[in-house]
Amino acid sequence: MLSENLQSAFNNQINAEIYSSYLYYSIANFYEEKGLHGFASWFKAQAKEELDHADKFSTYLHDQNAKVILKDIPKPKAEFADFKEPLTLQLAHEKKVTSAIFNLYSAAKEEKDYFTESFIKIFIDEQFEEEKTAQDLLTRYEIFCLNSKDIYEFSEKLGERK
Ligand code: MG
Repeated sequence: MLSENLQSAFNNQINAEIYSSYLYYSIANFYEEKGLHGFASWFKAQAKEELDHADKFSTYLHDQNAKVILKDIPKPKAEFADFKEPLTLQLAHEKKVTSAIFNLYSAAKEEKDYFTESFIKIFIDEQFEEEKTAQDLLTRYEIFCLNSKDIYEFSEKLGERK
């Protein structure tokens, strides 16, 4: 049985994952409206992954006979100064998510809730990948996207993601 503290932290995490999805969906729409379909489809895929994360936390709550409590989702940023800004924002956002996941892990460890500790480990690995991918995207943008043609070609490349 999950403690009250962990139930509440899990429900906060569900909200954070749905917010991530909302933010990446907003970024996808920004790129779509600027004609960068590849960037748009990359971020749409990210948005779907985040909903999947939220669902994994919900399933875990249900498996522990706890209740999922959905909350308001803050409005995401929709306007960006340039094509690089969303990439910088994504990296900063993923770092925030990582620290929330670390807090969940510490709480489970402190409570000696080993089921939950083990469950959260999957998300620690996930965050390692998310930060790595976001950093890589930003680095490649900074190095290779020197003009509109480079940005367009990079976008097309990203659009090949399945
Ligand atoms: Mg996530």
